[in-house]
Amino acid sequence: MRCPSCNKFPSLDLGEAEGEIGSCDYDTEKGELTIYITANLKLNTVCCGDEVKEGNFEIEITHDVGKLDCKCDEFEAEVDEISGCDRYETKNPRTGKPYAPRFQKHFYGVEGKVSYSCSCGKTEGKIDFEDEMQASSMDEIA
Ligand SMILES: [Zn+2]
Ligand SMILES: [Zn+2]
Repeated sequence: MRCPSCNKFPSLDLGEAEGEIGSCDYDTEKGELTIYITANLKLNTVCCGDEVKEGNFEIEITHDVGKLDCKCDEFEAEVDEISGCDRYETKNPRTGKPYAPRFQKHFYGVEGKVSYSCSCGKTEGKIDFEDEMQASSMDEIA
């Protein structure tokens, strides 16, 4: 892939990350909150700052909120913070043996926090979330 502005083979930088709540379900019997987040991460060319790749993430987090002091059966959630991140996997996670450099895997991901509260606002908190995908699975932005 070449940079659309200068035609070089570009290095890529983490770009904008965005996330929003898909839905937020509270299971009154189990006291469990399940939050679905859809997130998007863009990658920019280092040379010209063009957005050239993106990844879409569907994240599900389950959180035990325990017994409520109130009688609410509905919760709301919002994405407080989100940012992009990346890492190289340099050894086999199962055996711990290092990979030869050309077999190292590059992952891009998103990490952040959601805050939740019940309808009356008595029960509230924050939960961390993260997800990642291999660099090769990201889509080119046409
Ligand atoms: Zn460029
Ligand atoms: Zn409440």
